[in-house]
Amino acid sequence: MKFADLHLHTFFSDGTFSPEELAGHGARLGFAAMALTDHDSVEGCARMATACSAAGMEFIPGTELTAELGNTELHLLGYFLDTHNEKFLAEIGRFQTVRQNRILEMVAAINKLGVPLEVESVFALANCKSPGRPHVARALVKAGLVKNLDDAFERFLKKGRPAWVPKTKMSALQGIELIHQTGGLAVMAHPGLNHNDDIIPDLVKAGLDGIECFHTKHSTAMSERYLEIADKYHLLVTGGSDCHGFSKNKPLIGTVKLPYEHVEKMKVAVAGKNVASLNR
Ligand code: AMP
Ligand code: ZN
Ligand code: FE
Ligand code: FE
Repeated sequence: MKFADLHLHTFFSDGTFSPEELAGHGARLGFAAMALTDHDSVEGCARMATACSAAGMEFIPGTELTAELGNTELHLLGYFLDTHNEKFLAEIGRFQTVRQNRILEMVAAINKLGVPLEVESVFALANCKSPGRPHVARALVKAGLVKNLDDAFERFLKKGRPAWVPKTKMSALQGIELIHQTGGLAVMAHPGLNHNDDIIPDLVKAGLDGIECFHTKHSTAMSERYLEIADKYHLLVTGGSDCHGFSKNKPLIGTVKLPYEHVEKMKVAVAGKNVASLNR
């Protein structure tokens, strides 16, 4: 059997592995294909493509966008993206700027509480265009200002805590369109973590291509439920570990093994879309 992991993060967003380390883990676990889905970024895709190719694995360039539909936040995975598409890069660049400004706001709020976290220490540790709350948490740990990552989230960073800053999000419809414009497939990430399946029909109407049925945090019952939903709406089935490296306990890569037949179906779908766009 051939398997894939289609949900992975590197240090080009809030993961801790380099693309080469991530590809190394994937190769050791025997994966046939891997996708990189850093938050609002495709910065790591070129290095990941080279590393996967050297290890004899197939690579799918991707990203994970934070979006909203009504009041529900959801994450959209984009696959088979043209990572050089200038319009796409400009658009995700806007959200990278939002992320960078949000770091400034979070650190200012932490400083206001008398905690002397230096903003430079967060950017030095993040060292990428798409920083996020985990980087603030790690910088707090590194400076000895909190006990551990959980302590950082509990005291400052989680929703409702004093340094929580809401993130400007794109609408889900915009996100799906953006992924389509760059030749990709749009997939709803970890629907089981959303607790709101009512949005799925609207996402399908907006052109959603697939749904992440298999995810580390999905129970078997959840995966079965989303497989039924995929069947009902004729959606592609995807899955991945959502590995962030060593940022949370032990690396999650290897916990989800998506049968390769689903990757084949994705390739057929993306080829069909490209043919359709040529004929338009
Ligand atoms: P952001 O995109 O900046 O809002 O950060 C989201 C990231 O923070 C995700 O990777 C989450 O897994 C992580 N995160 C959210 N809440 C917590 C928490 N309570 N403890 C540790 N990590 C968390
Ligand atoms: Zn993340
Ligand atoms: Fe996510
Ligand atoms: Fe993720």
